[in-house]
This record gives sequence, C-alpha cells and structure tokens, in this order.
Amino acid sequence: MDVDFLLIGQGISGTWLSYYLKQAGYQLMVIDSLNENSPSRVAAGIINPVTGRRIVKTWMIDELMPAAWNAYQQIGNQLNIEAITQKNIIDFFPTPQMKLAFNDRFAIDQQYLDQPTDENAYQSTFNYHFGYGEIEPCYLVNLAELLPAWRQHLKNHNELLEDNFNIDKLIADNHGIRYESINAKHLIFCDGIQSGTNRFFQSLPFAPNKGEVIWIEAPDLPSTNIFKKGINLVPWQQNIFWVGSSYQWEFDNDQPTTIFREQTQQQLKHWLKVPFKVIDHRASVRPATIERRPFIGMHPVHTNIGIFNGMGTKGCSLAPWFAKEFVDYFRTGKQLNSEVDINRFKRILQRNNP
Ligand SMILES: Cc1cc2nc3c(=O)[nH]c(=O)nc-3n(C[C@H](O)[C@H](O)[C@H](O)COP(=O)(O)OP(=O)(O)OC[C@H]3O[C@@H](n4cnc5c(N)ncnc54)[C@H](O)[C@@H]3O)c2cc1C
Repeated sequence: MDVDFLLIGQGISGTWLSYYLKQAGYQLMVIDSLNENSPSRVAAGIINPVTGRRIVKTWMIDELMPAAWNAYQQIGNQLNIEAITQKNIIDFFPTPQMKLAFNDRFAIDQQYLDQPTDENAYQSTFNYHFGYGEIEPCYLVNLAELLPAWRQHLKNHNELLEDNFNIDKLIADNHGIRYESINAKHLIFCDGIQSGTNRFFQSLPFAPNKGEVIWIEAPDLPSTNIFKKGINLVPWQQNIFWVGSSYQWEFDNDQPTTIFREQTQQQLKHWLKVPFKVIDHRASVRPATIERRPFIGMHPVHTNIGIFNGMGTKGCSLAPWFAKEFVDYFRTGKQLNSEVDINRFKRILQRNNP
C-alpha cells in the first residue's frame, strides 16, 4: 500500500492531524494500538482560557479558542456527534486569598471572567465559604465519543491499522518509508510520551507528567457547568462526573494510586452536599515538555520523519490549531510557528542523529 503519510497514534493529536491531512487530499494510514489509558482517553476535555493562581490568560488562547470551537463543530457535524459544548467553570474560591486574586484580575481584565449575581446559588449542592467566580466561555470536548467515532471513520476508509507499531521494523531512507506492507512518503509520530524513547526524537526535552482521575456517579449534581474547588468536577455522561486531576512530575509508574483515590474522595465528602459513588479510577502520563510548548516538525536529518507531539496539559486546544498549521506547511511550505517548530532543537537532533 502506498500513502503520502503514515501516522503513529490516534490520540487527539493523530485525530486532528489525520483530519486535516485528509481534508487536504493526502492519502494516509494511521497505526494505533488503542491504549485505553492514553491521556487522550483519560482527559476531561476542558478548554479553559485562564490558568494559575493569578488567573492569567493561557498561551495564544484568543486565537485558539474560537478556532477550536469551529474545528470541533466541523468534525462533529461530519461524524454526526456533538463534539464540543460550552460549560463555563464555576470556580469556588478555596481561600479568601483566591477570592482576592480573582477580584484583582477581574478589575484589570474581564474578558474571560464574570462575577455571580447570587453568591448563594449553589448552597444546596456544594459546601463553600468564600463565594465563587465564573470563567466564561469555557468549552468541553466530548473525547469519549469523538475519538472512537473518528477511529471508526478511518477504519471505514481502510486508513487505520489497529496494531502496535514496532520501530525496529521501520526502514527509512532517501527513497521514503517502508513499514511492513506500507510505503509512505512521510512518517509522523503522534504517539504521545512514546516519542520520548524513540531513536529519532528521544533527545527532545520531554517532561512527562502523570495525572490521576476518578469517575463518580452522583445523580443529584447539576451537569450545567464544570465545578472547581482545587479539583475539577466535570459532567461526563448522564449522572456520571469526571473528577481530577493530579499533576505529578516525579513518579515511579503510570498506575492509579490508593492515596489519590482516598484523598479525592475525602475532598469530595467535604465539598459535596449530595451523595456520590466512585465508579472508576485511572492514571495516565501527559506528553508535556520542559518549556511547555509542543514539538512539531520534520527531523533535520531524516527529513521524511516528523513529530506532532508535546501537547502537555492542553491537547484539546493545541492539537486542532497546530494540526492545521502543520498541514499548511506541507501544502504551501508556510513556516511553522517558531515556538512549536522542532527546528529550535536542530543542533541537538543533528548531534543525536541515529
Ligand atoms: C488526567 C488527565 C487530564 C487531562 N485533562 C485535559 C483537559 O481537560 N484538556 C486538555 O486539553 N488536555 C487534558 N489532558 C492532556 C491531554 O490528555 C494531552 O494533551 C493529549 O491527550 C495528548 O494527546 P496525544 O494524541 O498527543 O497523545 P496520546 O493521548 O498519548 O495518544 C497517543 C496515541 O498513540 C498510540 N501509540 C503510542 N505508541 C504506539 C505504538 N508503538 N504503536 C501504536 N500506537 C501507539 C496510543 O495508543 C495513543 O492512542 C489531560 C491529561 C491527563 C492525563
């Protein structure tokens, strides 16, 4: 089989890259091993325009947010699913200092912030003592439906191979890429943290970050918003909520831990006034990077091998925007954004050339 692109991985990155490559008319094959604990399958799907204790805008959010809304609407229409909804965050202040920080920021910039008209609106459902602010708009990507629906779409077009890609079987030279019966002009790794160990890209400064999450059943909780008080409580399916997550830079393994489950349950017991039951608990490792910017582009030595990775904590907003930019690079030769282009690591990639 001859294709223009062979992609490794169908997480949120491989999904968007394959979407735009197909839209541009390229022939492709995606190989994905379907790891149900990959970050794309454990993530909540939140696109939150602000971050941190000082509630500052996230990188490029004024461009990313409207573009993400349109992109997910488009793919959702194609697949006949609701791929994105608006779910503003109700941010309960855990301390008086956090309330002060929110109000200070609100006084300077109200673009994504709002103050409630009734501070007691949620008193029957949640325990909170210092009021709340609203972050709006905030979006929720329906990853649980989107990823399987796009996978099925690829399968229907014979563009998905459900298998574990074995790099030892790869033959790459000036004539192109050969992998078993597939001949490709380009190979792009969209395989999350796996790229951090592969011989072409292992020298990129990945900083894997482990996150744990539990799912609860809570029929009396409202599904109108994402609720936050230290942790996020995110509407998932009917009566089911996603609760998380942790951010661990140092960890021994990628498995769920008793300590996270017990601490989160305890937090919920103090926060919620309604009953809940834990129904699932998972952990995954985010493909984060030391300087918090994605890794995108073609290898400086192996010019037909590339990477679309390093989405960190923000795959849902970064992947659609930069997948389109990467496809434009192939279509028109337009330069990639220098902050994401792996050309910034050209010397180190040349030096560690396998
Ligand atoms: C707990 C948690 C919560 C998160 N919440 C959010 C959130 O709310 N919003 C947000 O934007 N981001 C969130 N993230 C981050 C987000 O999940 C990542 O940015 C994103 O999923 C990265 O996607 P990816 O496709 O690059 O990588 P991955 O999701 O890792 O996908 C890689 C794919 O490649 C496949 N693969 C790997 N190796 C091979 C191989 N050898 N052969 C075949 N297939 C292979 C895997 O099976 C997988 O399907 C969260 C992450 C975690 C862990």
